[in-house]
Amino acid sequence: MPQENSDWQIRIRKVLDLERATGYDDRAATCGLEAFVRLQHPASIQWIEGYAAATPAARQSMIDDLIRSLSSDDVRAASQASSLPHEPDLTEPISRAHGIGSKRATLLAKLGLNTMEDLLMFFPHRLEDRTQVTRIGLLKDGMDVSVRGAVHAIQKVRMNRGMTLVKASIADGTGFLSAVWFNQPWVADQIKRGMMIDVFGHVERSYGELQMKSPIWEPEGMGVEIGRWVPVYPATEGITVKSIRSLIHKNLDRCLPGVRESLSTDMRSQFRLMSRREAVETIHRPQNPAAFERARRSLAFEEFFLLQLGLLRSSRSEVGRTHAANNGLLESFFAGLRFTLTAAQRGAIDEILSDLSKPVRMMRLLQGDVGSGKTLVALAAAIAVIDSGCQVAYMAPTEILAEQHALTFERMLSGLPVAVQILTGNTAGKTTINERIANGDVDLLVGTHALIQESVSFKDLGLVIIDEQHRFGVVQRSAIEEKGDRVDLLVMSATPIPRTITLTLYGEFDTSVLDEMPMGPRSIETQWIEASKRDALYEKIGRMLDEGRKGYVVLPLVEESEKVEANAAIQVANELTHRFPVHGVGLIHGRLASAEKAKAMEAFRDGETQLLVATTVIEVGIDVQDADFMVIEDADRFGLSQLHQLRGRIGRAGQPSWCFALADAGTEEGKERLAAFQEHLDGFAIAEEDLRIRGPGDLVGTQQHGYFTLLRAVDLMRDLDLMRRAREAAKAAYAQGISPELTDLIEQRFGEMIRWIRV
Ligand code: ADP
Ligand code: MG
Repeated sequence: MPQENSDWQIRIRKVLDLERATGYDDRAATCGLEAFVRLQHPASIQWIEGYAAATPAARQSMIDDLIRSLSSDDVRAASQASSLPHEPDLTEPISRAHGIGSKRATLLAKLGLNTMEDLLMFFPHRLEDRTQVTRIGLLKDGMDVSVRGAVHAIQKVRMNRGMTLVKASIADGTGFLSAVWFNQPWVADQIKRGMMIDVFGHVERSYGELQMKSPIWEPEGMGVEIGRWVPVYPATEGITVKSIRSLIHKNLDRCLPGVRESLSTDMRSQFRLMSRREAVETIHRPQNPAAFERARRSLAFEEFFLLQLGLLRSSRSEVGRTHAANNGLLESFFAGLRFTLTAAQRGAIDEILSDLSKPVRMMRLLQGDVGSGKTLVALAAAIAVIDSGCQVAYMAPTEILAEQHALTFERMLSGLPVAVQILTGNTAGKTTINERIANGDVDLLVGTHALIQESVSFKDLGLVIIDEQHRFGVVQRSAIEEKGDRVDLLVMSATPIPRTITLTLYGEFDTSVLDEMPMGPRSIETQWIEASKRDALYEKIGRMLDEGRKGYVVLPLVEESEKVEANAAIQVANELTHRFPVHGVGLIHGRLASAEKAKAMEAFRDGETQLLVATTVIEVGIDVQDADFMVIEDADRFGLSQLHQLRGRIGRAGQPSWCFALADAGTEEGKERLAAFQEHLDGFAIAEEDLRIRGPGDLVGTQQHGYFTLLRAVDLMRDLDLMRRAREAAKAAYAQGISPELTDLIEQRFGEMIRWIRV
């Protein structure tokens, strides 16, 4: 780098001094300051982009930035020492960043980038190899390469319809390459004849000459866009990857000294992590992909460690109650069961009983595929707690499911001294029921979110079981817990959750997994069928009905209104009744009264109707063993786990069954989803596919999926091992006590997310 100021620096500096002296009115240069700088030194234009339109205050800071950059170009180290005596403050607003206009600051704020720290912690998700500079003589059609050369000629051509074309001819002694830019007339002002530049782009041979269309370019050796492993940032509306890259590049050196370590040296060496500062620098300016990945993993470890520490810090009080079963209820229950438990069920029940017998609060997540027999495990837990003299609340997301569970429980518990009661919004005689709950006359209360109503109070609630817990709001979950004293908690999900998500959302829970199907593996054949073949499909359904089979026709949820949805269901049911007059077509949807719903279910169970047209009210829990086919209409309107959950309604006795997904997949994502649905029958595999296709947001089933963006370095597809290790490390660290500084840091980064996960 030259020690003496070059001519352009002196010229720019003079004009800037004049501009300052005349009060930033953009008259120091006759052509306007922006154009002037562009002429003198194109690379410096970034500092004062939008100058003419900016406010005087903004103009002032732009000029300050530009002057700083001029001096940093010659004696960088010295100027850093003099102009930055203090450690940079990363909590400064992002508007203080070099090279940022007020417009861009606003756009970045929309992305959640408000401070310098946010900017530094905005990580690239991959790298692009632009390290190799290739000689023009060696270029071939179709290559993506960097080229370095002198600008031999440059011209701007006006074409018809107001289009402009800038064409530069670049030479490196081995040949000529033309670079062309469409509708970017300013390029002609930035690139001058004789300049040395680097370009990166796709090489094509066109009319016999080698050409790059709209290549990326920069002055030779600048090393931001070309000649290195270039970090690729997630692009977002209004801001290009390139401008984010340049912004980070410009501010990185200045900000790095402000990056603080959060992990101890011991811990870093134990887990072979880079220092945070080194990791941040490396991830933005990697020497190679291996270094990039090491930096990312170091940051991911730290990130997940902090989240886990935060979860541990705020986890529910660990003191719980000991539930000693003393009347042999559970033994009688098992003795009366018509089937034997699977080994997985026995394992899970043992884990739960062991939790219950300890004076610690149980926090357990029961995972298992659709039909793996979670309900029975939950029921065993309930019986154990009831036997110790406490009450149990079992909360399900829908009325239909609650009713079905209540029926099942009554049936399975008949002969045992356990009083089961249902309570939903539609249950009659609430006053009496509430009294019985308060008196302790109800042992097992099964219901919907009606259970959390204020009028419901327990004599002594000992265990809360939440089925399909993701369908409840956070407030509902904690409200039911608060109806008891140090209640134990068992939560279940409808379909498996990817393990990395479980670690994130259920960090404070222990997990039991049912990885075995009671009836042996399901044998369901899934077919994705084009909507145009709908008629042929129903012909086939007709034959299945003739064979005496029964099944469902499921219609998608219509978001706008239950009424529209019900009408659609009625229409389809009419159409099918017409088509299959002798087989009996039932109908069930959300607008039916509960008695009617129950009647429809019963008729289907008894075989009075062979075909049940249903909206997604049947999605969860419905258990009619001999249903062996399902048609899912407009299957592209369902999420993957919802499809899988629906499919779980058939083949429940292990009999061969068929699931037909009718859809024209409009989008690429829709195609992937349906293909995955067709291919995978295993719920854990489905969950992983879902995560891959949609990302974590939709999997958590809530509006707050934005919290997942707080995990900036963690890769939920690949970091399972790392996340487990970070969790163990967090447990160990927590046991030793954590410093107030760390507490602050956790609160700052994850406070809100933790509060959301916790309740
Ligand atoms: P899910 O895990 O989807 O909630 P369920 O608990 O509804 O599954 O169980 C599915 C079906 O399997 C139910 O009909 C249930 O009675 C039955 N079942 C559960 N455990 C066993 C077992 N060990 N042997 C045979 N059938 C079982
Ligand atoms: Mg269930």
